[in-house]
Amino acid sequence: MKLGIVGLPNVGKSTLFNAITQAGAESANYPFCTIEPNVGVVSVPDYRLNILRDMHKSERVLPAAIEFYDIAGLVRGASKGEGLGNKFLSHIREVASIVHVVRCFEDSNITHVDGNVDPLRDIETINLELIFSDLEVVEKRIQKTEKLLKSDKNLAAELELLKKVAAALEEGISARALEYDENEIEILKTFNLLSTKPIIYVANVSEDEVSEDGVNNPYVQKLREFAKGEEAEVVVICAKIEAEIAELDEDEKQMFLEELGLKQSGLDRLVQASYSLLGLISYLTAGPKEVRAWTIKKGTKAPGAAGKIHTDFERGFIRAEVVAFKDLVEHGSHTAAKEKGLVRLEGKEYVVQDGDVILFRFNV
Ligand code: GDP
Repeated sequence: MKLGIVGLPNVGKSTLFNAITQAGAESANYPFCTIEPNVGVVSVPDYRLNILRDMHKSERVLPAAIEFYDIAGLVRGASKGEGLGNKFLSHIREVASIVHVVRCFEDSNITHVDGNVDPLRDIETINLELIFSDLEVVEKRIQKTEKLLKSDKNLAAELELLKKVAAALEEGISARALEYDENEIEILKTFNLLSTKPIIYVANVSEDEVSEDGVNNPYVQKLREFAKGEEAEVVVICAKIEAEIAELDEDEKQMFLEELGLKQSGLDRLVQASYSLLGLISYLTAGPKEVRAWTIKKGTKAPGAAGKIHTDFERGFIRAEVVAFKDLVEHGSHTAAKEKGLVRLEGKEYVVQDGDVILFRFNV
């Protein structure tokens, strides 16, 4: 599951993407990840892993990872084929969620494609391209569905939904802004529209504004107000600083962040926000060999979670021995937690929770 980084030219996308690849996780450890020049793999920060490592004296730590896809080149007119427009739009179709970088820094040396800094106008420009592209898809599908409807009356609901979405798109409204019932949501998924993809806005601010999280930056204020209406999250970063931080080792990074008055880097915050935007959580495994975070979709049951480690674990699943991270840490060891009855035996129907420390029992 990838996130796509989009934004107008000169807003700081490449700078952010460089920070991502610099900070990059060892891709050898993540065989599911794509290795392409425009894909960056980055670890998901998780403070629990080092605590578990110390507890188990583990040899290595493997955090979860997510992939960012650099979709540079989206410009006004992309949906009409400007630049390599349609190609970029088709890349966005492949990602699960969108990270939209918006310029909120002033710098007279760096030109803005539309002459001045104005995040809401920039958002509208990009969103309209996504909307136009969706409108094309929806109109084609309406024609097709109208024909098919003659022989398959079950398509009536789909056609109605298509028309509802088309009406909004024609008004310049993103499909994600509409309300849907459960049935509609299921059908909508099959359309794979760009303007329904979940979105995070990244406000790229100047170096001297990061420590205050952009609260005194009028552009960020406007962006936050706008995003609230879309129930989208805003992450304030300075891409330039992130690129510098990404070159440092862990100790230097902590020192640099302290100097800036920050607890976490902007990239770490972005990665965490992205992980939850994708609806992902981590369960953990811990032993002397390694401590590891495994990525699952929220709502995954124990056998499905076991299957992330190995398909045999899912097929031969017997039960899971589960202890919540919090309980484990409170009692200092697995044995102590067990004595307190906090290590639970869970079966096939158990829905795995974020931070569960699990040992699977299975038949081979
Ligand atoms: P892209 O076209 O969106 O990929 O933008 P780039 O990442 O290439 O950035 C465009 C220019 O803006 C470059 O000269 C960057 O050094 C500069 N830039 C990017 N982020 C920041 C920032 O946070 N502050 C300042 N002052 N300049 C930045």
